[in-house]
Amino acid sequence: MSSARADTLTRTRQWRGVIEEYRSLLEIPAGTPAITLREGGTPLVRSDWLSGLSGAEVWLKVEGDNPTGSFKDRGMTAAISVAKHEGAEAVVCASTGNTSASMAAYAAKAGLKPLVLVPAGKISAGKMAQAILHGAQVIMVRGNFDTCLQLARALAWDYPVALVNSVNPIRLEGQKTAAFEIVDFLGDAPDHHLLPVGNAGNVSAYWLGYTQYRDLAMATRTPVMHGFQAEGAAPLVTGEPFPDPETKATAIRIGNPASWKLAEAAREESGGDFTALSDDQILAAQRELACQDGVFVEPASAAGVAGMLQALATGTSYAGSTVVITVTGHGLKDTVTALEGFGPLVESVVDADVRAAAEAAGLA
Ligand SMILES: *Cc1c(COP(=O)(O)O)cnc(C)c1O
Repeated sequence: MSSARADTLTRTRQWRGVIEEYRSLLEIPAGTPAITLREGGTPLVRSDWLSGLSGAEVWLKVEGDNPTGSFKDRGMTAAISVAKHEGAEAVVCASTGNTSASMAAYAAKAGLKPLVLVPAGKISAGKMAQAILHGAQVIMVRGNFDTCLQLARALAWDYPVALVNSVNPIRLEGQKTAAFEIVDFLGDAPDHHLLPVGNAGNVSAYWLGYTQYRDLAMATRTPVMHGFQAEGAAPLVTGEPFPDPETKATAIRIGNPASWKLAEAAREESGGDFTALSDDQILAAQRELACQDGVFVEPASAAGVAGMLQALATGTSYAGSTVVITVTGHGLKDTVTALEGFGPLVESVVDADVRAAAEAAGLA
């Protein structure tokens, strides 16, 4: 291929990653080279199922399509690029799984040493495999995510490692690009935005992005922000920290969100709300989304969908409006939880015989 042709392809067809696509809108030090795996540019998939149920135009922002399978990559490209630019040699994070997977990948790309603190026994095998294969040193902590975050902060304070949790404001700068992409695609902000909330960095980042676009007249409005937590880890709903958060939706198993204040500001300024859902509601929504729309997400990622189903069941009307639901991470992250409740994996074993297969399938 001629190099002119290659240039054209690069310029016109391949998404460059969120820093190069939106650099002028991001508060990162001028001239920071981008460490990127070409994250972002994720699809907005119309949910025919939820649109039909609600009379709204419902879109799914499918963040599982990011390089490491969750939206965390948007913030991580920013945090790791800046850490590298500023001379860091090692990076640390506390994680329920996806932050560590993402950090390890971007640290590998940048040539930094990744150190990960995770709650012992609470990380899915898929997420753990990602951190390990990308070369992270994984330390299991007796405690929950909130304990891990305290420890990560203290390590970064006392030792030469840079903290890349979402308490690092650079993370939110990267993550807000999801709001830009939605407005760029739809032509304006949606009326409602629904998403899962754990440490509350993402809801805060979306609000940052939407308000920035409105202030720049790139959008005429901002959406109402609706955040969803699991009943066993719902501090933003009750107003009190949860000392022992518990839910099968491990990515939102957080009792004391770091971005609590920013998330409350997003709720108040947008006229939105935070709502708690049972694990059963979340897991049922995960399964239905996979069957109805062909989108397989991890449990926590289905909280926004479960939230919409609950709102419809209790009489809220979205008719005539535009709704975006962020589904935050890929279903393959946690296949063990996904398959719970389905009984034996292989229902019927048959000889390699057409008649037997047809009978087992109920065709004959
Ligand atoms: C991190 C994460 C969340 C929660 O996002 P916060 O910014 O912590 O509120 C939800 N879903 C998935 C898949 C995640 O990885």
